[in-house]
Amino acid sequence: MKKLKIAIDGWSSCGKSTLAKQIAKHLGYTYIDSGAMYRAITLFFMRNNIDLTDASTIENAISQISLRFIPSANAQTSEIYLNDENVEMQIRSMAVADEVSKVAALKQVRDFAVSQQQEMGKHGGVVMDGRDIGTVVFPDAEVKLFMTASPEIRTKRRYLEMAEKGIEITMEEVMENLKKRDHIDSTRMFSPLTQATDALVIDNSNLTMEEQLDVAMKLIQEKINLAQD
Ligand code: C5P
Repeated sequence: MKKLKIAIDGWSSCGKSTLAKQIAKHLGYTYIDSGAMYRAITLFFMRNNIDLTDASTIENAISQISLRFIPSANAQTSEIYLNDENVEMQIRSMAVADEVSKVAALKQVRDFAVSQQQEMGKHGGVVMDGRDIGTVVFPDAEVKLFMTASPEIRTKRRYLEMAEKGIEITMEEVMENLKKRDHIDSTRMFSPLTQATDALVIDNSNLTMEEQLDVAMKLIQEKINLAQD
């Protein structure tokens, strides 16, 4: 049976990764968190005080980075390794969230990440979430979803997620960070966040996890049937 490429894009904290993981589990596909790659690159840049205005320093820094996804101990999902160090926890910090959109706007960084993402998904059977998956990474993806939700709901979800991890933060700080990232992500020069013209929009502000999976799976099943013809 032909395995598809499923691209999920959208604003920050719209539940993209939750839906992507649900779909991957349902279909036995691989889930790839492209945002984790930009976050891990950002962590490396922060640790090494990389000057974001100096092209050759950026090139040199990128040449020292190796990224891998390795299944977690419980095998439910995979975790990102930066040069053989598991950085899954560190990349979720507010410090990284504050910097990541600036780093992800750099052309050299995007070229590096996108070519790896394309390699990982070239045989299909992948669900990848991010900002430019349906437009730049896999413009040929059979399924494209674009997720959105109200800013208040997104803030609350991210706040609860961080509180659960013991990260001390206020709702205002979370909302500021989401707004800032969305602004940089959608106005940057290289592959800005935009909705692919052939994407199905899912506003999950008032949907349960089961309902959003239902909506997505209806479209995916149609595309799977078409792909077998
Ligand atoms: O998905 P997540 O919120 O973890 O992504 C973190 C950041 O990485 C985004 O705010 C964006 O700046 C960048 N990103 C991107 N392109 C992607 C995925 C993430 O620019 N495909």
